[in-house]
Amino acid sequence: MSTEQQHALPSYLRAEELGPWGIYLQQVDRVTPYLESHLQRWVETLKRPKRILVVDVPIHLDDGTVRHFEGYRVQHNTSRGPGKGGLRYHQDVTLSEVMALSAWMSIKNAAVNVPYGGAKGGIRVDPRTLSRSELERMTRRYTSEINVIIGPNSDIPAPDVNTNDQVMAWMMDTYSMNLGHSATGVVTGKPVSLGGSLGRREATGRGVYVVACEAARQTGLEVEGARIAVQGFGNVGGTAAHLFVEGGARVVTVQDHTGTIMNLGGIDVAALSKHVAEFGGVGGFQGAEKIADEDFWSIETEFLIPAALEGQITAKNAPKIKTKIVVEGANGPTTPEADDILRANNILVIPDVVANAGGVTVSYFEWVQDFSSFFWTEDEINERLERVMREAFSAVWLVSQEKKVSVRTAAFIVACTRILTARDVRGLYP
Ligand code: NAD
Repeated sequence: MSTEQQHALPSYLRAEELGPWGIYLQQVDRVTPYLESHLQRWVETLKRPKRILVVDVPIHLDDGTVRHFEGYRVQHNTSRGPGKGGLRYHQDVTLSEVMALSAWMSIKNAAVNVPYGGAKGGIRVDPRTLSRSELERMTRRYTSEINVIIGPNSDIPAPDVNTNDQVMAWMMDTYSMNLGHSATGVVTGKPVSLGGSLGRREATGRGVYVVACEAARQTGLEVEGARIAVQGFGNVGGTAAHLFVEGGARVVTVQDHTGTIMNLGGIDVAALSKHVAEFGGVGGFQGAEKIADEDFWSIETEFLIPAALEGQITAKNAPKIKTKIVVEGANGPTTPEADDILRANNILVIPDVVANAGGVTVSYFEWVQDFSSFFWTEDEINERLERVMREAFSAVWLVSQEKKVSVRTAAFIVACTRILTARDVRGLYP
């Protein structure tokens, strides 16, 4: 680790256990030489979260005992607008992880040019071990504990891993009860009956598809007739797969936590969705052949869509990948070593901070609609989403071509320039 990075390290993190925050610091160091010199003086701001709140979340369990949970809310940067980012419930959540995810939200929001900073929250809990009423009490107590820093103008949480529209409804209700009136704009990803937005559920998958089409156009590839591999057939992967098929492509292989299936003639995605809804995964689907999980990576395709978990494309499987374009639906699916291997093999990677930004973009639309109490049609949402994604892609693509860097580095250049320009013109208070 460079001395520079050691300087940036706060006393509450240990250099030998930096975790995801360490990866983020490396990404900032990598992009710094490309920033204009008057912005480089502000780069330290990116290496220090603006505000970190660690809270104790005690609740009564159903059996009458009391249990304490560790909760976090991190606001990484608010130079361009209020903090924005999801809330994750997972037993392995760490401060380093929430810090990194909050920073990646700053980058993502700036890359697609929505007027937000970056934030993220988390509770160290396996929500499957709680009853519904325990989950509600934990969500409400956590919301009250972070009440001092969230709000429609300051920091707007949204769903992430293991949280959903019901959790957002409880958060909105708790915040509103403390405030004395309804404040729908304090969270996004709410149920449509509570000021949620049409099109939010499909937004991330739709964004993945739009960006894939733009990347195809730039590289002379046809979506019609293209072969697609999808890892993860949930919200993001499932929606993207449907849209690719509508666009005339063939989904030839799908992998999820229940196994891997292949049909080179094209999987019937509508039938697969029904099967997944009934059985919980792609395993056992009759319209395709079951193959070994490791063979998923070597199937020849034009597009590979990782849309499951982080760290899936590694130095081990990257050399086997035979595709033209990887479009990252998941957050952080490609390790830095794998990124270098794919680039050396002429495989284009469209990074998560652009490719999966459709979700936060429609969250932004939801927030705007809540403020004006005027709701748009689904067609209006999709049309605006597509425009934002196309503009974001072309700005980043241009930089990658001009500077001859990967699309990921280009996305960081565009985003960090926007964040630090805002910092620069705002100046330092006092
Ligand atoms: P989801 O829970 O709806 O689907 C997850 C999918 O991943 C499921 O099909 C599951 O079977 C599969 N999966 C889980 N473990 C796996 C494994 N070991 N191997 C292969 N597949 C596995 O989740 P989602 O909302 O579709 O999110 C997927 C990814 O996209 C996550 O990384 C998430 O952070 C990211 N993302 C989601 C959104 C959104 O709006 N939903 C926005 C931005 C980023």
